[in-house]
Amino acid sequence: MSDAPFIEIRNAAKSFGALEVLKDINLTVEKGQIVAIIGPSGSGKSTLLRAINELDPLTSGEVWLDGVQINKDLPFRQYEKHVNQVRQDIGMVFQHFNLFPHLTVRGNITLAPKMLKGLSDKEVNELAEEQLKRVGMLERIDYYPSQLSGGQKQRVAIARALAMKPKVMLFDEATSALDPELVEEVNLVMKQLAEEHMTMIIVTHEMGFAQDVCDRVLFMDQGYVVEEGSPDVVFRNPTQDRTKDFLKKHL
Ligand code: ADP
Ligand code: MG
Repeated sequence: MSDAPFIEIRNAAKSFGALEVLKDINLTVEKGQIVAIIGPSGSGKSTLLRAINELDPLTSGEVWLDGVQINKDLPFRQYEKHVNQVRQDIGMVFQHFNLFPHLTVRGNITLAPKMLKGLSDKEVNELAEEQLKRVGMLERIDYYPSQLSGGQKQRVAIARALAMKPKVMLFDEATSALDPELVEEVNLVMKQLAEEHMTMIIVTHEMGFAQDVCDRVLFMDQGYVVEEGSPDVVFRNPTQDRTKDFLKKHL
């Protein structure tokens, strides 16, 4: 085994046309670590998360996961195959759930394992049941997304990501579209994953949650990681004025 970090982002830069959205980002995450990314709207948090699984490929720089370079330069067909492979290791949960509306909860969860892992119906059903149990949603297995609350949809979305047995889970403001009374049930599921030492990168605007759950906090502003450290340091003793200003408004 090498000593390379579990996840490593090296000199990452990303532009949309003339707009530079990520500027020389470096980040390492160890296995089992939970990292929060905070920062104002438009600072590049989603773009960074989406770069990790090639939804928004970097303009330059490298992304590594468990010894494999995610953003490899390959001929198109090989690239497609590579990306489909590596994405199986990266679970992602979005603000707006992104469940397939025409499929039941079961259908949503079994689709990818069936197609990408070639598992049998029996295997994927067991997998769906196991993951739904984990998020407390087993009794809704035959419901459609439209029959669920926002919090329930998000728990299903988490179960769907977990069903691929990912090496890392990425959360992009998983609770910000929820009514306040539904936030806690989703936070509880994420806390449970934290206790199970799932490696997670969590973009959040919930400073309390970040303080409670995360090992490390990154503050981003205008495409830069301005400050990073333990929650104690970043939240209680930030060194950068931009971090202080942001926290004044959000703590
Ligand atoms: P955050 O998640 O921190 O709010 P984003 O990563 O979504 O920030 O966006 C960072 C910047 O990149 C913003 O200025 C946003 O408008 C821009 N941006 C994001 N996605 C695209 C895109 N697909 N095309 C053009 N600009 C984009
Ligand atoms: Mg965002």
